[in-house]
Amino acid sequence: MQSIQRKVLLNPGPATTTDTVKMAQVVPDICPREKEFAGKMKSLREDLLKVAHADPARYTAVLFCGSGTINIDICVNSLLPEGKKILVVDNGAYNSRAVEVCQYYGLPHIDLKSSVFEQPDLNRIEETLKANPDVAVVYCAHHETGTGLLNPIREIGALAHKYGAIFISDTTSSLGMIPFDIERDNVDFCMASAQKGLMAMSGLSFIIGRKDIIEQSKDYPKRSYYCNLYLQYAYFEKTGEMHFTPPVQTIYATIQALKEYFAEGEEKKFARHRAVYEAIHRGIDKLGWETALPREIESGLVVSVKYPDDPNWNFEKVHDYCYERGFTIYPGKISTTDTFRLCSLGKIYPEDIEAFFTVFTEALDHFGIRHN
Ligand SMILES: *Cc1c(COP(=O)(O)O)cnc(C)c1O
Repeated sequence: MQSIQRKVLLNPGPATTTDTVKMAQVVPDICPREKEFAGKMKSLREDLLKVAHADPARYTAVLFCGSGTINIDICVNSLLPEGKKILVVDNGAYNSRAVEVCQYYGLPHIDLKSSVFEQPDLNRIEETLKANPDVAVVYCAHHETGTGLLNPIREIGALAHKYGAIFISDTTSSLGMIPFDIERDNVDFCMASAQKGLMAMSGLSFIIGRKDIIEQSKDYPKRSYYCNLYLQYAYFEKTGEMHFTPPVQTIYATIQALKEYFAEGEEKKFARHRAVYEAIHRGIDKLGWETALPREIESGLVVSVKYPDDPNWNFEKVHDYCYERGFTIYPGKISTTDTFRLCSLGKIYPEDIEAFFTVFTEALDHFGIRHN
């Protein structure tokens, strides 16, 4: 096999992949309407259910061609019954994206905004549900990638169910990294894209959720043609295929990535991401710099680092210096505080973080930026 230069991606996905996943895309040309390809998608969908510990009798995995945001669009526009409201627990950029989807479709919604630096107040969520019996859907991201904050989805899901609503969680930046059990975590629909936790390529996204609710949604208002959950599900049920052209090569890569996922194992993979995250914190501590969130509420996958108080600091220049040496760092997404992000997604190890901090420190010295 040809060797491909290895890059350490510290951005929040797409993540560093293995060469075997990269090379899995190089396959004989195939028409995706062939039975052989449908068979591949069938086992891929079954494996995705296993990642979420979802019982195949009650849950299904529906595939879509698109980046992760397509899942947000689909879940929000497809799962809201006529005359009902969606409650978005909004403490960050990705939850705000769901609010924007509601706005674009003109859907009745409550934007329950709270600080991006804190977990949401469960009492406030409960009060809102009590006061709004027409809420049929509660929505909250598991891991707010913009900050690195982990949301208490199990508790939020329990509240949603207590008040008769379904719970959708955007698990794009946690599934396959933080152990997750769809039923135990009180989630009715979760979602992700292949290039984050699964360490495959971009272009394939999937929603895992309850079959009975998807069946019910057949009679909900049809708000999109391309992005309708029931239509895609029904097509898979009937034919085993995606309604429209799938991302063929990305699917081959994802099949290989899932093999490697199960070989590494859920707990071991979680521990590896955690070890990378600890190495990131060690590096930042050593510089004497600060991070934006208290560690207790961090996901362990994204660290938002505050800009140093130094006129010589220039994110772009430091980024370029590191990029030229094989390390990619990423801008922050917090409007009130200047930050950049270092992430522990992908097939990387604590040694990669140590090598990164050597280069990063070199960059700081090169540009005369203060550090310990
Ligand atoms: C990455 C991500 C998405 C999807 O973003 P795309 O740019 O469409 O891939 C959605 N939600 C969360 C929480 C994410 O981290």
